[in-house]
Amino acid sequence: MSSSASSPAHVPEMDRSQPAVVVDDLHRSFGSLKAVDGVSFQINHGQVVGFVGANGAGKTTTMRIMATLDSPGSGQVCIGGHNVVHHPTKVRRLLGWMPDAFGTYEHMTVLEYLDFYARALGFKGEDRLRRIQEVMDFTDLTPLADRMSNKMSKGQTQRLCLGRSLLHDPQILILDEPAAGLDPKARVELKSLIRILAQEGKTILISSHILSELGEMCDSLLFIDKGRIVHHGDAESMLRGSEAAAETLINVQISGDPAKLIEWALTAPLIKIEEETKRGARLRVQATDEATLAGVLNRMIQDGLPVFDYHREERRLEDAFIDMLGQIDKGTLKSQAQPPPLPPQKNAEDAR
Ligand code: ATP
Repeated sequence: MSSSASSPAHVPEMDRSQPAVVVDDLHRSFGSLKAVDGVSFQINHGQVVGFVGANGAGKTTTMRIMATLDSPGSGQVCIGGHNVVHHPTKVRRLLGWMPDAFGTYEHMTVLEYLDFYARALGFKGEDRLRRIQEVMDFTDLTPLADRMSNKMSKGQTQRLCLGRSLLHDPQILILDEPAAGLDPKARVELKSLIRILAQEGKTILISSHILSELGEMCDSLLFIDKGRIVHHGDAESMLRGSEAAAETLINVQISGDPAKLIEWALTAPLIKIEEETKRGARLRVQATDEATLAGVLNRMIQDGLPVFDYHREERRLEDAFIDMLGQIDKGTLKSQAQPPPLPPQKNAEDAR
């Protein structure tokens, strides 16, 4: 299964000496609301980057500007070396955009729907039919070719939307919450399609609220909060970074009355109770080194606690993200690194 083959002849050159995506000090306000407040990042060719943030953090606004659907208040965005304001037509040819909200049409089959967009993109004759078939095969929509496009499940509809964004075989994809509202099976199917696209070398920016899924799929994660980037790095560095808080979560279970453990933890140094559990507690130990963690267990045993389970909890990306936001609120972590340098600008040949 492959997503790429023929494409219309008029796909513009992509300057591979430049990063696939450059966003430089991007600002966008709605009235007094700073939806995007100085966002900068770069994505190299072939990288898959997860875009993460709470509701209203500024993801869609950033992505819409990248997709030439909205204009920056200030700052610059270049896709494949082309500025989105000066060269919107080139950018649209290079880019596949999958919006978070997606409409289908009444009285239009899957095949007619894709045919309409393939014609709009300039595919003609045999090429058009071949490309539609390739996309339907890739997204597993061939058995649904004659299904009314507005009479499909959410997962099928999302695959149709992805298929539409792939018609012109774009090298760069911006996917805004493609997995939102999908059941686990549909999510796995969509994830495997995205994996294939990544293996084909496409550059992908994908937003999602499901951090664990993004962690598996992405080369790096871009975290945005209140319109500002708070972290750009791989999942491991995200987890390590949040350990700067120098705490470890330990899950302890004891035989007998769990209240004994709580009583003990209330007076023990370096320990806070995170949560009481059925057989014990989750404890936050203010240390990360093995010697201290072993010392805590030792003290429990010496103090007569019948511990039968003591294990360090793997930090989840969700925890790391929440810790990071807490550090920003306390002022111990600054949001947004210095903007990266911009590549040289080209002439505005196809400027609007
Ligand atoms: P979600 O995860 O909920 O989709 P998001 O991170 O994509 O959120 P955006 O949609 O970019 O967030 O919105 C950022 C902020 O800008 C929000 O407070 C939103 O209400 C506001 N906003 C977005 N578009 C507009 C608009 N056209 N007019 C006014 N405010 C807007």
